[in-house]
Amino acid sequence: MPYHVTLQPSGHHFQVAENEAVLDAALREKGGVLPHGCRNGACGSCMGIILSGEVVYPHGRPPGISEREQAEGKALLCQAQPRSDLVIQAREVKAGQDLPIKILPCRVERRELLAPDVMRLYLKLPNIERLQFLAGQYVDILLADGRRRSFSLANPPHADEWLELHIRQVPGGFFTDYVFNRMKDKALLRFQGPLGTFFLREDSPRPVILIGGGTGFAPLKGMVEHAFHIGLNRPLHLYWGARAKADLYLDELPRRWAEEHAQFRYTPVLSEPRPEDGWAGRTGWVHAAVAADYPDLSDYEVYMSGPPPMIDAAKAAFAARGLPAEQLFYDSFEFAPR
Ligand SMILES: Cc1cc2nc3c(=O)[nH]c(=O)nc-3n(C[C@H](O)[C@H](O)[C@H](O)COP(=O)(O)OP(=O)(O)OC[C@H]3O[C@@H](n4cnc5c(N)ncnc54)[C@H](O)[C@@H]3O)c2cc1C
Repeated sequence: MPYHVTLQPSGHHFQVAENEAVLDAALREKGGVLPHGCRNGACGSCMGIILSGEVVYPHGRPPGISEREQAEGKALLCQAQPRSDLVIQAREVKAGQDLPIKILPCRVERRELLAPDVMRLYLKLPNIERLQFLAGQYVDILLADGRRRSFSLANPPHADEWLELHIRQVPGGFFTDYVFNRMKDKALLRFQGPLGTFFLREDSPRPVILIGGGTGFAPLKGMVEHAFHIGLNRPLHLYWGARAKADLYLDELPRRWAEEHAQFRYTPVLSEPRPEDGWAGRTGWVHAAVAADYPDLSDYEVYMSGPPPMIDAAKAAFAARGLPAEQLFYDSFEFAPR
């Protein structure tokens, strides 16, 4: 028997099947788009408050929600399954709700090694197909036996001859090892997308801070190029955190943006510069550099993507500097569940 779910404050409502996650049903029914990121119960982007009714997690409490949050009535909607009708308080996003989520084949048109552990893939769709997406969204590469691996789109929507991915090699990683060691040019892949709600809110007047850790630069590249394309004239300040200079694998690109666009600033931050880097720039953790430069974040919009420890540390540091939760958007690069 399906359960009836109502979202507050929008009043959108939809049906959720007995063994279905609330987010999956919401995406299917397109009543509005609930914020979401990894869809593995890890990143916390899809957290809502259960105002009435009961949910369960068939595989146990997911890592992205603490016992305390659960006790406060919060739930991770990508994993929570209803056991009664529900009323849920959740903010919704309007943009993206009309974009179809497709499963498409593609060909690896070109591979380019950007750093020892970062590969850029250019994916070509069949001629009759096009992927409509918002700058910053991601796709899931679909592998044999149902495994999927998430990667952000690094190209902006207007430059869609190829889809561009920046893939960091994970030691022992099932898919990324294949990309680095065994994948051939013209290899065929299948993916599902566009996914996620990590995209630039264009209707806001606030100045924007973008923070990327490692390949977290990928979705931010798409967003910044899109912002320039539509003539967005809000201040944009990009921070890119990496270990050493070689890990800022496209460093010349944001440096060029800073020369060409008065509203754009770029601050690279290295956590472990090597002596041969001759680095005279900022050092330390990237979120700490942002916190030092912006002691009051209450008027800013912050977009960040990269490794989960960076996201977690930044969330706490920025909340302490007055950044309201609704002005923070992030994609935490979680691993797929085993
Ligand atoms: C929304 C989103 C967007 C992303 N975008 C990008 C992107 O643009 N670029 C990019 O490089 N990456 C991105 N990622 C991360 C990327 O999806 C993973 O790096 C990728 O899935 C690794 O695949 P793999 O098969 O090589 O590794 P796996 O085979 O899945 O894992 C390899 C090893 O990692 C370790 N591991 C696995 N699971 C965990 C875990 N839960 N916790 C700790 N260690 C674990 C294990 O040691 C395992 O052997 C994104 C992730 C998300 C959720």
